[in-house]
Parts: sequence; structure tokens; C-alpha cells
Amino acid sequence: MSFTIHGIGVSGGIAIGHAHLVSHTKLEVAHYDIPAGQAADESARFDAAVGTVRDELEQLRGSVPAGAPAEFCAFIDLHLMILADSMLSEAPRAIIASRLCNAEWALKMQADELLQQFDAIEDGYLRERRTDVIQVVQRVMKALSGQRGYMPPAGDSERNLVLVAHDLSPADVVLFKQHRFASFVTDLGSVTSHTAIVARSLNIPCIVALHHARQLIRESEIIIVDGTQGVVIADPDPQVLAEYQLRQREFGLERQKLRRLRDTPARTLDGVDVELHANIELPGDVAPALDGGATGIGLFRTEFLFLNRPDLPGEDEQFEAYRQVVEEMDGRPVTIRTYDLGADKQIDDTARLATNPALGLRAIRLCLTEPKRFITQLRAMLRASRYGRMKILIPMLMNASEVEQALQLIEQARRSLDDDGIAYDRDVPVGGMVEIPAAALALGLLTRRLDFLSVGTNDLIQYMLAVDRTDDTVAHLYDPLHPAVLAVLAHVFKTAGKAGIPVSVCGEMAGDVALTRLLLGLGLRQFSMHSTHLPDVKQRVLKTSLADAGPFARRMLRATDPGKLHAMLDRLNA
Ligand code: PEP
Ligand code: MG
Repeated sequence: MSFTIHGIGVSGGIAIGHAHLVSHTKLEVAHYDIPAGQAADESARFDAAVGTVRDELEQLRGSVPAGAPAEFCAFIDLHLMILADSMLSEAPRAIIASRLCNAEWALKMQADELLQQFDAIEDGYLRERRTDVIQVVQRVMKALSGQRGYMPPAGDSERNLVLVAHDLSPADVVLFKQHRFASFVTDLGSVTSHTAIVARSLNIPCIVALHHARQLIRESEIIIVDGTQGVVIADPDPQVLAEYQLRQREFGLERQKLRRLRDTPARTLDGVDVELHANIELPGDVAPALDGGATGIGLFRTEFLFLNRPDLPGEDEQFEAYRQVVEEMDGRPVTIRTYDLGADKQIDDTARLATNPALGLRAIRLCLTEPKRFITQLRAMLRASRYGRMKILIPMLMNASEVEQALQLIEQARRSLDDDGIAYDRDVPVGGMVEIPAAALALGLLTRRLDFLSVGTNDLIQYMLAVDRTDDTVAHLYDPLHPAVLAVLAHVFKTAGKAGIPVSVCGEMAGDVALTRLLLGLGLRQFSMHSTHLPDVKQRVLKTSLADAGPFARRMLRATDPGKLHAMLDRLNA
């Protein structure tokens, strides 16, 4: 029977395909069949992952200081014991052989079985060991994700699949870049969560916050995903299906038409040039950015190089990634952000999660607690700087001390390269992200010492409105048009302008075509967004008169009634 579910569309367009349910909970993993001849290799891959985790745990045990509480060693021993148990280290091998599936899926099947047994146990102490089993399984999963395993070819069968998940992490979604799924939908999530942001870069329709999709949708049934409207239609009637097939073709034609704007300069009707840059997660995103007409990379979220692997990328590996981007951009500006790990992008799943991760040890805060790791990245960036036009961007700055410490560490990285006789561009500009309201209001903290600014509206709005950007239950409160948000943006553009410091916006607001004219009117001249949004935003810039948009935007700054503000925005865009 056909039914419709509504969620939040985070990436537009229409997909029609067969539902493929991916499993619920943190043990969310892809499932694919492997050829019979591949089973032994897949088992060996599993064994290697178990071995890696055993080494990690033994190393951890060896590094426990003498005075540490006894429970700490007991906890590591328990995890080693769970890992050694044949239920965990042997049974998945049998599953790989009998079902011819990937190692991750075999481990997940076995873990589900074990966890069910734990649920049935009466004894409270034993039942609590369930968490330990989950932690060990997660460690093995992580070790597996760092290995290059068998990948099903990105064939036509994949193009017909719509993944239906309870939740997906940004790290999960970035793996989809190696695949060609038609679409994915999730029960949880919100518009500016990193999961949604990466989804946009995949250029496939995607909907989050559907709440019960995974319960209601059945494996293999046909579903329509309308990412623009945020609607999923399961098991559609033939007429509905035909209607959406038509819309899908129209959407494709519209996109093709917009592609013709690729080489047209983004210039307003009154002749003012606007920079339209791209946000990327991985070096492979440069090609679509150039294809979309990007005149620079405004934000390279380097933390994605650190995800889905058991180890950290070393200096040389990072250098190669940065150099590739800088070289491929061929003299166009490339802004590389130092890693913004923490919050929803953890590299250590077993690290104790802060009570409020978004307010915790993330981005520059984390970098400053790990100077060695930070300097490795800074050296890699500086080394890449001589291959083009590169800038360094520091996320989440909040006070003058963080700015000073970051600059000192950059200086330290420069000196160490000098000592090693390695060349780099001595004039690499260093900028800061405006993401914390305190920094936006006391902007002098940043303009005094930095060369440029980039406004991260995703976090700025999250912190201004106290709305967790990953929590779908408060997603409706996330409002870029809130008068306070507009006032702070106007303040930042004006103050940076007076100080002669270039400012861009690289949060999702920059790629929202409904807000292009408003931002131009408020004084913004540099936008950075996912490549897919570039053509729409450019078209809007080409049709905008700043002489009209400026005064109109200033009038909007005086409005406080949300209804009136929305009506004014409609008039501005008419
Ligand atoms: C932002 O906060 O707006 C931003 C661009 O950074 P991220 O989305 O990666 O936190
Ligand atoms: Mg941010």
C-alpha cells in the first residue's frame, strides 16, 4: 500500500529506486555480496582488523601509569577477553564463508546475535557487559574501515538503490563518495548537520528527520524521494510514479541549462563582481567544483581526511592531499581549514564524549591541546602553499589567546620547515572563522591579527539560537532569518569592511539561493558553498541589482516579526 512520509529535504532533486534498509544503531554498516573467490581474502581482512585491535589494547595496557586505578587495567583486560572469544573473533569468519558477505556485515550480524543474548540475561552485572561488547565491536569496525576491502563495483544496481537508515554519521556519508546510490534518507538529522552537508556534496536527493522511515519502509519496495519538497512516497501508484518520472526529467533538464553559466563571471546587474567559491571535503571534490564554475575553494574541511581510518594521516599524506587541491585549482585561491574534529566528527569513538560535544573540545580547542598533531598539519599545509595560492583558516576562534596561540604554532611550523630547509610560501594569509557569537560581536579580537575572515553560519546560528544543529527535535527552531542573526551578520560585514579585512560566508546560508540577494544587500561579496549550489546562486547574482538589494536588506534589519520578514524576503526575491 502506498504511503507518504515528510521530513527535511537537505539535498534537492528526485530519485526513484528500490529501498535498501541499512541497519539501525551505532553499528550501522553497509552490506554487500562478495564473489565466492573473495571469501578467504575477506576473512583475512577480518583477522587483520582483530589483530590491529588486539595490538591497540595491549599497547594501551602497557601505557597505563603505575598509580592508575586498578579498574582501568581490568577494563582493558575485559575488552581483550571479549575480543579473544571465538563468538567474536571466529564466528564472523564462518558467516563470511557461508553468506558471502563483507566482513563488516558478518561482524554486525554476529554482534546483533550476541547483543540479543545479553538482553535476555537477568543478572544486572552481566547485562551491563553489553556496552563492553559494543565498544569492542566498534573498535573492530573502525579497524576494518581503515583497510581497503573488496568494494562492489559502482554499477547500475547501486544507482537504483535508495538507502534507508535510522541515522548516519558524517564519516559514513563521506564513504558514499565511492558509490553511486540514487539517494539516501534517514530518521534523524537536520539541515546543517555535517551528515546533511556531506549529502549535499554527493549531489543526490536526500531527506533527513523522517522519524519512522526505517520502520515503515520495506526492503526492496519502490520509493520516490523528492529532496526538494522533503517527501518520501513508498510503493507509489502508477500515475504518481509517472508524474515523478516526468518531474525527474524536468529537473535534469533545468540543471543542464544552468551548467551553461559555468564560465560566466558572477556579476550583479550594476556591474559588481562577486566571488563564488566551493566547499570541499576531499581532494576528489575539486573536479565537480571546477565543473560548477567555482573561482576558488573557500573551505576545505580537512577533518574528513582523518575519518574512516584507524590511524592518523601523516605529514606527507596530508601534504599530498593539500598539494593536489592547490595544484588542480591552478592559481585560483584555496582556503584550507585546519581540522575541525570533535563534536559530531570524532576520530576516537572510545574517547569519553563530552556532555555537550558542540560546546566541548572541538576544532582549534582540540588542536591547541594536541600541538604536535596540529603542527604536523600546519607543516603539511605550508609545504603545499608553494604550489599555488593557499590560505590557512582556523575554525571556532573565541578569544585573543586562541588567536595568539594558533599564530605562534604556525610560526613554530614555519621555523621547523626552515630548519629542515623545506621551501614554502612565506606570505600565506591566515584567517579565522567567525562561528562563536562572542567573536562576532567583539570582532576586533580577530581583525587585529588575522588577514581574512570566513563566517561559519552553521555554527554561528547554532550557538546564537542555542539550537543543536544535529538534533532533529529542534530543527524547526533553526532560523537564519532570526533578527539577531541578521544583525550580527550585518555587523560582521560592516566591521570587517571598515578594518579592510576580506570576509566570506562558508556556512550553508551561502548556498541557499533564497538568501543570496539578502546577503548581497547586507554587503557580502564572497560566498562559499557546495558545488551543486553554484549555478543557482550565480543565476541569482546575475539578476540582482545592488542598488535595490542594499536598501531593502537594511529595511529587513529593522523588522522583528517573523511573518513580515519572510514576506519581505519573498518580495526581495520576486
Ligand atoms: C559553519 O559552521 O558554518 C561551517 C562552515 O563549518 P562546519 O559546518 O564544518 O562546522
Ligand atoms: Mg563550523
